[in-house]
Amino acid sequence: MKKYIFAALILCGCINIQCDARGPKVDSSADSTSTERVGEGTPAANDIPDGARRLMAAYPDFISGYADGQLVMTDGTKMVYDDGREKSFEQKLDEADPEDMFAFTYDRSDKEPEYLQDAGRSRCEPLFKKMYGNSESQVRTHLIKVPWFGEQVLFTDVNGAADSLRAVAADIAAQPNFAQLKQYLKSSGTFYWRKVRGANRQSAHSYGMTIDIGVNVSDYWLWKNPGKKETDRIIYANRFPHELVHIFERHGFIWGGRWYHYDTMHFEYRPEFLVP
Ligand SMILES: [Zn+2]
Repeated sequence: MKKYIFAALILCGCINIQCDARGPKVDSSADSTSTERVGEGTPAANDIPDGARRLMAAYPDFISGYADGQLVMTDGTKMVYDDGREKSFEQKLDEADPEDMFAFTYDRSDKEPEYLQDAGRSRCEPLFKKMYGNSESQVRTHLIKVPWFGEQVLFTDVNGAADSLRAVAADIAAQPNFAQLKQYLKSSGTFYWRKVRGANRQSAHSYGMTIDIGVNVSDYWLWKNPGKKETDRIIYANRFPHELVHIFERHGFIWGGRWYHYDTMHFEYRPEFLVP
């Protein structure tokens, strides 16, 4: 069984062999599907796409503005927001520009994910490499140890991610039913610089802002639906309590269990989906 889980983890790209201080304010309400914009009423503000606004709110250390279809970075460089290309589902994952990251809705309603709704699996690689590091050694320079229920896990201090993970731990430890939550908490990995298996894109674990927990009580779409392709219809499974998910979300983490291609052990620091 252990062998099976290990092999399956390798397959899903989740294993690692091996906010509040600075992070943005995230929306603690259950509905993040709102497309409400800040600064409504001024034509200039209304020209900013909602996704760009979210990125600016989530990553103020790196993104300072939006002009002429580009994200303006704090180092003075610019990044095209929307390359204008029509993309297939797979291309939205493999060749994402910043705009593609918002092609899917992150639905916090605790219903089963809808067909192909994978908000967060799409990552604009140049943007993430710019923020977290362009290589394993660059990412490592930002990793710090965070206490995690008797373990120490490596997490990046970039964008306040490590502080946010600390806040998650404190929040979980304060729950009245902490004894019941314990079975979900054992870490099976945070940082691991690697490509997603079978794809040419970098795994979220490469950036040090992602943690896998509770592998023994977790579900992954390919375990339940072996042989299925990305665009096939699949059966959903989850054993994680939503209250645990809500705690992570309060601190800027999205949950892989909200993806159509679910990965319920996977929590990833992506505040752009959780800012109001
Ligand atoms: Zn993972």
